[in-house]
Amino acid sequence: MPTAGVPTVADVVAALDEWYPPATAASWDRVGLVLGEPTAPVERVLCVVDVVPETARQALDLGVQLIVSHHPLLFRGVSSVAPTTYAGRIVHDLIRGGVALHVAHTNADVAPDGVNEALADLFGLTDRVLLTPEGIGRVGTLSEPLTLRELTTLAARVLPATSWGVRAAGDPDRRITRLAVSSGSGSEHLAQAAEMGADAVVTSDVKHHYASEHIAAGGPAIVEAAHWATEWPWLPRVAGLLRNRFGMETFVSELRTDPWNLAVPGGE
Ligand SMILES: [Zn+2]
Repeated sequence: MPTAGVPTVADVVAALDEWYPPATAASWDRVGLVLGEPTAPVERVLCVVDVVPETARQALDLGVQLIVSHHPLLFRGVSSVAPTTYAGRIVHDLIRGGVALHVAHTNADVAPDGVNEALADLFGLTDRVLLTPEGIGRVGTLSEPLTLRELTTLAARVLPATSWGVRAAGDPDRRITRLAVSSGSGSEHLAQAAEMGADAVVTSDVKHHYASEHIAAGGPAIVEAAHWATEWPWLPRVAGLLRNRFGMETFVSELRTDPWNLAVPGGE
């Protein structure tokens, strides 16, 4: 039974859907409530980029009643959630622990309080416009021009740390005034960043051929961080929205779920 004054899973989902409307998600995406009783009370929430065994364990240890995740746990067609499967084990543990799960993915990428805005905030971008017509990514102006080398150093400072840090493609002395950001995998938006007049783009998951052909064609410099690191900055934002709306206790997972957990400089 709902406790008086305590929001339910349905109440929190309604607020999340208001900030991150499911209709704005890409057609291939899978967003919304994944598991959890809509009538269950929610006093504590954990925000994560990925639902993996480690963050599920963290939710259980913290005693939260809801996880808000950026990436879907169940993405491809699923015919079983048996606990002998990777995702099924997590589903079982969460249900048994009374933890609901809600996903805001591409609908969170495009939103005013979303992932790309949070990423743009880290670089203090002003005069922001959308990078793509669908609302993915942002382009804005740095408070002062930076060289690519300085921008890369700044990115490493403001983004959460990962084992391999931040790397860049392009002339290290190139002067960067207009910066594009595209959280997560941004390869397909490099051409758009060039069209929008960006001097550099901060993104992740850029393939060798994409990067080399783009740079050879005179496109914006590329600053590449871990996929997880470019999306994590959204977590404090959504946690703040939930605190303000419901006065609930919120947690932001600082567990690195970047799968690349070891880096060794080459040639040494
Ligand atoms: Zn992502």
